[in-house]
Amino acid sequence: MTRIRNASQRHQPTSESQIALMRQLVKSEAKDRPGTYRMLSSTGEVVYVGKSKRVRTRLLSYFRCAYPEEKGARILREAEAIDWEYTPSEFAALLQELRLIKKFRPRLNVAMKRDGLHYAFIKLTKAPAPKLAVVRGASTDDASIYYGPFVGAQRISEALRELSDALMLRDCKTETKMHFSDQQELFQLMPRTPGCIRHEINKCLGPCVGGCSVAEYDERVGLARAFLDGASDGPIEMLRNEMESASERLEFERAASYRDKLGRLEALREQFGRLRFAVENLSFVYTVKGHEGPDKVYLVKRGIVRAELDKPQSSWQRTKMKKLVEDIFGVQEKPSTSVPTHEIDELLLLSSWFKRFPAEMGRTKKVS
Ligand code: SF4
Repeated sequence: MTRIRNASQRHQPTSESQIALMRQLVKSEAKDRPGTYRMLSSTGEVVYVGKSKRVRTRLLSYFRCAYPEEKGARILREAEAIDWEYTPSEFAALLQELRLIKKFRPRLNVAMKRDGLHYAFIKLTKAPAPKLAVVRGASTDDASIYYGPFVGAQRISEALRELSDALMLRDCKTETKMHFSDQQELFQLMPRTPGCIRHEINKCLGPCVGGCSVAEYDERVGLARAFLDGASDGPIEMLRNEMESASERLEFERAASYRDKLGRLEALREQFGRLRFAVENLSFVYTVKGHEGPDKVYLVKRGIVRAELDKPQSSWQRTKMKKLVEDIFGVQEKPSTSVPTHEIDELLLLSSWFKRFPAEMGRTKKVS
């Protein structure tokens, strides 16, 4: 790790002479190897973290920015020091960058890096009365459950509306006060008339006005989760029954509307099926060639690196790795599209890595 730091503690843009010093240091010491780097302010705050498969080339490119609004120039204006660290491969640099960003949450990364926002997730909020919503990017809100990632937020939103309507789940503001029917004391204080049209037209159980008990609402949430996990087609069956009843009553317009709703839910189910398949396929042992060092082995399960180690050279190391593989892959997990919040970024990183470099799949080995 290498660092240059100006002793003075200033908050104004980095001086030309300091930038020249940093450039000189990079030129004389940095090597063209994979690695990560950190830009630090005069107070030691990590303002930016980056990675490259050629650290020297990447760092020098910062000093060649022709215009002040270029990303590199903006970062250098705030940086008084540069650290860098080599990694065994470009893949290791990617992982290390992600971990450093999570650790330091550098403000320039937050402002500039928006990769995650291309994706949409379905979020099931926490109790009381969870609701379904489409959100962009990952959040630090660990109490919610996330399903995804998906592209096409608009389409997902429409399908989610059908799901919420079919199961009569709420869709109002998160902070809306809930008054379940089994919360008698609270209910007595409530006005009798519901304040929302969704309850009146049978699109919401009405947990805000005592329209259902906690258990009744939770049962519907359970159905939503089972559908999103691919374990149940309950909501689809509900809509199909409604469509057939409308058709029998010769209400063809209504039946056609149910058919369209059904189509949107079925499309969502198919998309979930593809996603589950993709996530399950990101489970393997991945060997990456080391740059001037030992090869690295990554144990990847459901798109997340569960362990990493040097490629075993001795029988003792092979035995140790075999045990690790058994511990990690021996535990059966139900195929699901829900992803813990803290794993979303890594799942996105791995799926985009193998999409960019499909030949890398040839270096993976499935665990049977
Ligand atoms: S009926 Fe109440 S809980 Fe349901 S959507 Fe309307 S305000 Fe929200």
